[in-house]
Amino acid sequence: MTIQNQGGNNPRHAKLQSVQTKLLINGEWVDGVDGGKIATIDPYDGTVIAEIAEAREADVDLAVEAAKAAFPSWSKMAAHDRGRLLLKLADRIEEDTEYLAYLEAIDTGHPINDCLRLDVPRTVLCYRYFGGIADKVEGSVIPVDAGFLNYVKREPIGVVGQIVPWNFPLMFTSWKMAPALAAGNAVVIKPSEITPLTTLRIGELMMEVGFPPGVVNIVTGYGHTAGQRISDHPEIGKISFTGSTDTGRRIVQASAGNLKKVQLELGGKGPNIVFEDANIPAAVGGSAFAIFHNQGQACIAGSRIMLHESIADNFLEKFTALAGSIRLGDPLDPNTEMGPLTSELHQKRVLSFVDVAKEQGGEVLCGGAGPESEALESGYFVKPTIVRAKYTDRVAQEEVFGPFVTVLTFKDDEEALKIANSTDYGLGAGLWTRDITRAHRMADNLHAGMVWINCYKRVHPGSPFGGVGQSGYGREMGFDVMREYTQAKSVWVNVDAQIPPFYQR
Ligand code: NDP
Repeated sequence: MTIQNQGGNNPRHAKLQSVQTKLLINGEWVDGVDGGKIATIDPYDGTVIAEIAEAREADVDLAVEAAKAAFPSWSKMAAHDRGRLLLKLADRIEEDTEYLAYLEAIDTGHPINDCLRLDVPRTVLCYRYFGGIADKVEGSVIPVDAGFLNYVKREPIGVVGQIVPWNFPLMFTSWKMAPALAAGNAVVIKPSEITPLTTLRIGELMMEVGFPPGVVNIVTGYGHTAGQRISDHPEIGKISFTGSTDTGRRIVQASAGNLKKVQLELGGKGPNIVFEDANIPAAVGGSAFAIFHNQGQACIAGSRIMLHESIADNFLEKFTALAGSIRLGDPLDPNTEMGPLTSELHQKRVLSFVDVAKEQGGEVLCGGAGPESEALESGYFVKPTIVRAKYTDRVAQEEVFGPFVTVLTFKDDEEALKIANSTDYGLGAGLWTRDITRAHRMADNLHAGMVWINCYKRVHPGSPFGGVGQSGYGREMGFDVMREYTQAKSVWVNVDAQIPPFYQR
């Protein structure tokens, strides 16, 4: 069942012919047990797009029950049939590109062009990739003692809990659900209550293409209630979380009760190092994409630009000019390059870092406020902001998660490495150089889960994604993730029917 548009008279929401607003539990769209509602807000004008059902602890319990019941037949289904459903879903998402892009744009503030060129195609690719991998998760045969056969199977875990943040809801939902389902797990997923619409739409498409009831359950609710219950639920065997480091820590503590497997994709403070021999125009454009794409709301954002002192002035002149020319506007306008931040609370948080920077002697080179334009004043905008800061300053150490980048200079490779590795995080890192030896030496020594050389923020479902240090552990995507969503079972066979040499009488 689909609930009709609740978007009121806002013409921006006119294309919202229908939007699902209920919880998906056991293949049915249902209200929350308590009947609570959460308003999802359009960050461009602060209006309510829709009121969605609020899942609380009791709803999570029902979702887990449904997933547990669905797991035996889902996990025993031929792997290629599970794969086929994921491939059908990928096709259906591709057909739905325009509508999904529209929903993502009004719910998150992502520019529609980005949604059409990146978010939706990457989502399709992800479901397709893992649809193809479903029947390729092979076990192994281990050479053991003569007369014995030892084989190792990879088995799904059971019910997995997935908690998704608000910055890339459509894409991150695919990163989590596609491999978990390909491996044969049943899923209980909680999108952020700030941006639930595309996850609900994916739920509709999943039902349409024939996923069995209970295999995927969607619980839209708050972190401290529904999220907390997913983390401590005794029947959930694994949890995959993307979000802040503080919440990641809480999840680890809550998961200890039944010793869940935990995979955490947390914050980052990506160093983006430009050496003196870099292709400067490429580095300028790539660095702008690294920090300003999606309004900087990306864990892998290149939020610390480090410039060799000999090219710093040249780079900064071009980079500040580019930042100042980025077109802020309505996410639904195809000309918009930067939309509003996803929530008002987050806009305030990001802007508060401007004062933090100034208190420690930081110099704002550009931005540092919302736009002057009256047309944009009801949106949660922050202008592209560049701050010159010391590497020990808070703004160069803490994740700001907005269109806010710090810049500083370094003298040589050794100093560059020291500064790059000076934060607690270790997610993405990038460097720009024409020197192949230097590039690989830096890649070897950077404290990071991912390194980009002469590019930034490249991702692909075949390549493992995740961090080290306080950026979390475990990996999404790549073949590694199939190990995250399965566990090894070692089976011993006494082929020669040998009698053990012990206790013989
Ligand atoms: P959170 O980590 O609080 O939120 C991420 C998700 O976790 C949301 O779905 C949230 O639900 C849920 N959650 C919150 N508390 C709990 C809990 N106790 N148990 C289980 N789930 C919970 O991030 P914020 O949205 O508060 O953003 C704060 C900062 O975190 C950002 O400024 C950024 O630095 C970082 N962040 C990093 C992300 C990344 O991609 N690595 C993504 C998002 C944020 P609810 O929305 O109801 O709180």
